Amino acid sequence: MPDRTRFLGSVLAVATTVTLALATAVPAAAAAPSTVDQDVAQLYQDVIDLYNGLPASAVSGVDRLIDSPIPRIGPRFKAAQDPIPGCTEGSLLTYANKLAAQLTPLEGKALDALSALSQLYVQGVASDKSPQVFGTDGQYTSRATATIDRLRGFWDIESWNIQLVAWKGTDLGSQAKMAQTFGLGLAPAKVKGAAALATQVLYEVPALQGGRNPLLTLNAFSAPADSLGGKRVALGDGLLDTVNLLGFDDVSVESVVGHEYGHQVDFAHNNYPPNESSEMGPDAYGGYFVAHAKGFGWNSRLQQEVTYLDSSIGDCFHSHGTPEQRKAAGAWGEKQATSQGNPNRIVPSATMIDKFQQEYPKLMPPATGQSATMAAAQR
Ligand SMILES: [Zn+2]
Repeated sequence: MPDRTRFLGSVLAVATTVTLALATAVPAAAAAPSTVDQDVAQLYQDVIDLYNGLPASAVSGVDRLIDSPIPRIGPRFKAAQDPIPGCTEGSLLTYANKLAAQLTPLEGKALDALSALSQLYVQGVASDKSPQVFGTDGQYTSRATATIDRLRGFWDIESWNIQLVAWKGTDLGSQAKMAQTFGLGLAPAKVKGAAALATQVLYEVPALQGGRNPLLTLNAFSAPADSLGGKRVALGDGLLDTVNLLGFDDVSVESVVGHEYGHQVDFAHNNYPPNESSEMGPDAYGGYFVAHAKGFGWNSRLQQEVTYLDSSIGDCFHSHGTPEQRKAAGAWGEKQATSQGNPNRIVPSATMIDKFQQEYPKLMPPATGQSATMAAAQR
């Protein structure tokens, strides 16, 4: 729910800016906007119209792995909130923000529109009934498939209908797929033209790299049963490429899918805590899964790598947990697996949720001595 508001809010705010910019440009009799400018502006509007044409439930409850800089207003779209004092955001977010900052406004607008469009494709059109290819070159397909298979057998929730789907920027090059996507909410007469425009912009703006710019798909998400397309976990190629680049390749697919599946565990139990434990819980369940003998039974070195990956996606906005909090949540989950008497026993998911909710307040203290002092001073 917060994600929908945030997304539409940012889209509409940018749309207003675009409208204003056009309105002021006309009386000034400035040089006419280039064809590419016009194409991007039109595509942006088409994507806004598409989202506005969806039922309210379509994208509600979708949990994203990170607060991506795409789509965004300025450097962060949560700018109204001050960052937590003394907190440094994780390396993956730092990297994503740096990539986003290199884009021109035109490139950024094209990327925002196409990223939102590809997200809707993977959420509402794609299906695991056709073979899914994970990673730009398919290099992660077998790991992704093995992970979802194992997760389905690990947690005691209804699992057969949780799809794992690949989120690929290159799907934007298919007019047929984009027509299906625009067909979800755009006026029927406009669908064909909008789909053609999407694939045109994809190659008109070189920074998009024909769909291979990692920012287009630098995320993963979990969607609940009543959202568009039903229960699913989507895994972005851009996220996998970036996690690889940052040095976490050994554990990337398993950790991220383990975390996103953790949201399905919460969905199954109607557990929607209104705080960072909504993200730290899945970190903990994911840690339990990878360290558990019936999960992947990973050794302490790989367990460490998972916690540093958790840390790399921590933010400083009371959103998904700080790097330290996320690391602590993942490590706590791993410890539940390695310290239990019978290594083969799997704690029921409802029990795991309760245990984490009890632990969570201890993982919440401010991340630094400085902010701890400030918090104490405010009491
Ligand atoms: Zn999450």
